[in-house]
Formats: sequence, structure tokens, C-alpha cells
Amino acid sequence: MIRSDVHTQSTPSLASIEAKVDSGERLNREDGQFLFETPDIWSVCALADRVRRRLHGDRAFYNVNRHLNYSNICALSCSFCAFYRKKGEDGAYERDLDDIRAEARSAAAAGATEMHIVGGLHPWLKFDYYTDMLRAIREEAPALHLKAFTAVEIVHLAKISKRGRDGIDGIREVLRELKDAGLGSLPGGGAEVFDDRVHDEAFKGKIRHDAWMDVHQAAHELGIHTNATMLYGHVESPRERVSHFMLLREQQDATLVVWAQRMGITTPDAPCHDGIDRPSVVLTGPDSMYPQDRQPTNEQCNTGWYQCCIPLPFVPDDSALESLYGPSGLENLRTIAVARLMFDNVPHMKAFWIMQTLPMAQIMLQSAGADDIDGTVVWYDITKVEGSGTHQETTVPDLHRTIREAGLEPVERDTLYRRVHRDGATWTADSVTLQ
Ligand code: SF4
Repeated sequence: MIRSDVHTQSTPSLASIEAKVDSGERLNREDGQFLFETPDIWSVCALADRVRRRLHGDRAFYNVNRHLNYSNICALSCSFCAFYRKKGEDGAYERDLDDIRAEARSAAAAGATEMHIVGGLHPWLKFDYYTDMLRAIREEAPALHLKAFTAVEIVHLAKISKRGRDGIDGIREVLRELKDAGLGSLPGGGAEVFDDRVHDEAFKGKIRHDAWMDVHQAAHELGIHTNATMLYGHVESPRERVSHFMLLREQQDATLVVWAQRMGITTPDAPCHDGIDRPSVVLTGPDSMYPQDRQPTNEQCNTGWYQCCIPLPFVPDDSALESLYGPSGLENLRTIAVARLMFDNVPHMKAFWIMQTLPMAQIMLQSAGADDIDGTVVWYDITKVEGSGTHQETTVPDLHRTIREAGLEPVERDTLYRRVHRDGATWTADSVTLQ
């Protein structure tokens, strides 16, 4: 539904928010803040679960994937990060193309549908390394979808490749060249919290939110789907989390409005109620365009958008912010529930089990609005929860059991949320996204 704006203001309460959720009316900034502050977390989770069931019924999604961290050497030193090393430091590594080819063959042999590729901002690797890496994986495993590079990596590649006349020009050109080399989508990491105070305190030196959003907008314009993350539970406040959600929601609106208009979908009389004078697209209401017959498809308009939102809990261990506690279990549940309720224009909400833990991800699926759990992963070097090592693998039977015990039906999807049909390591995907 495309909504033009009529602004209403009232003091939020759980009852007023429930009424909005039931009618498909957009929640505003005050509602978001209230949801983060009310002691009644279980009601917040129940509302998020209601939206999630409206969207996806009893289905919960997972994929068979591999994560590849090509290098942990990074020019920056973000204080929440335990992944980076300086060149020559103990534990610093960069993987060569032979090694990466072997990883691609192993992933294909195991039936993976996706390779998720991220790394540090390596000060000396040339741009060719990145395009060669994508081409090498493509040659070894042509069916693998390559979900690669966070926005800060793309900005770094634009700088080192000296593409384009200015910042955004270079970003577009780099994305084009990476797409030609096999890039399928962007994973959405590195967003942290879109606030200058938080930026300066926890990840000064990294790009600010406007540059992060520029990269994603350029990707969407090139028909590349992306995801959106938020790293929470460190130095940010609930108000700053809500602002983060609002900025992403506005950007998704702008993208989906273009898509919907090109698709000839308009209902201009419906109210928006978010206080901003612009049209919006709500996907989660009872009469919305998802998941029935009007779900986003880019076949006709070649536009990308945020497919999925992934709230990521801060893991303090081994970082410069180790003295902080990180978010509690209840805060994890609340945050994904509020994200589900605020992101009325993003189809999927992921409980990333690697950072949430599998038991917490299971509860999020069952009762806090998550519909996706990520995949088998295998190797993951970015964060290590509770002393886990780089080998962080789960199996498909484990994922099935986790989902079934939550009372839901496991559905294997590919990166673009198309149903996967599998015979052992051999698989095909439907041509349309799941309904
Ligand atoms: S978060 Fe990313 S950019 Fe910051 S230090 Fe870690 S690897 Fe480098």
C-alpha cells in the first residue's frame, strides 16, 4: 500500500500501538521509544509475533551457506571490534586466491547456495584482488550467490581503486565492476548505530551513516538487493536506536515508492501517520502488498531494496569496550521485536544465530517477530560468543529442529528468498520470491 501522509499525534500506549498494528498504521518515533522503554516486554514481543505471523504464517527461513573472511587486516581500529589485526600482528591473515578457490569448491560440494564474504579494510590489497576473488569463486562454483562487502568496504574499494570523479561516482563504478565480477547482493553489516555521538565514541574513523546509506542507495539503483543491520547494546540509547530504524525506513520508502509506481500500484488516499510529508509503502499491514500477489519483485523495474533487517547484539569479549556488559537476553528479544514493529516496509527480520546463539534465535522465532535464522555458516571470524572459535557450524537437521521446536515450519531459501528444492548437495531455486 502506498500511503500519502496525514500526521496524528497522541501519547503512545500499548493499546494505541496495538490498534495501529492491527490496522496497518505506521508507528512513529514516539511509539518506537515507548516500545523500548515499557517494562511489558512480553506484550511488545506478542505484537511483533502478530505481525510476523501475518506476513509469513508458520514458516521460518534458513539457508545453506558459507561465510568467508578473506582478511582480518584493517586500517581502522573500531573500539567495539575484536576481529581486526594490524599487518604483522599475531593472528593477522589474508587468504590467497588458491585458498579461496578451495573454499568455493568445498562450499559447492556441501550444497551451499550462498557465500557471505566480508573482511577488514586491508591497506595494501589492490582492487583487482576483490574482483579476482569474486571471479575465482564464480569459476569454481557458478551457482553460489555472492553476498559480499559491507558499505565501509565498498567506500574503501572506491578510494583504493580511484574510480569515479567524486565519492558517489566512485562507489557506483566500484559496485558496477563488482557486479560484473559476480557480486549478487550486499550483506548490510557495518551500519552500527546511525548517530554522530555514537559514531564518535565507538567507531570514529569509520564512515558515518550518510556514506553507509549512499552505498546502499547506489546498490539499490543498480538492482542489487541489500540487508540492513544495527549493532546494539554498547554506548547507544533507545532514542538513538529508534532514529536508526527511522532513517532506514525512510530510505526503504523512497526505493519502494519508485518500485510501486513503476509497477502501477497506488493507493494515494491511505494515511501514513508517521509525521513526515512523503509517501511510504507499508508491507506488513492486513491489507498490504506482501506476501500475497503484490510482493516486491525486481523483474520489471530492476530495483534493489532492503530484504531483511538484522539487529546484531554487541559482543564485548576481546574488544576495546570489553568493560561493557553487552545486551541481556530480554534486551535482545525486545530489540528484534521493536525492529519488526517499526520496519513495516522490510519483509524479513533475521535472528542471526551466530551472534544471538541458537537458543536465543529460537525464542526470537517463536515469540519476538523473527522469521529467519541465517544458515549453516561453518567458518565465522568476526565475533566469537562465549569463547567459541572460528569454526562455528550448525547442520541443517539442527536448524530444522530449532525451528520445529519453536512451532514453525522450516523453509530453505536462497539469498533472494526463493524456495530451494534440494536433492543432497544438488539444488534448484524457484524463479519467484516466496509467498
Ligand atoms: S569494524 Fe570493520 S572497519 Fe572497524 S576495525 Fe573492525 S574490521 Fe575494521
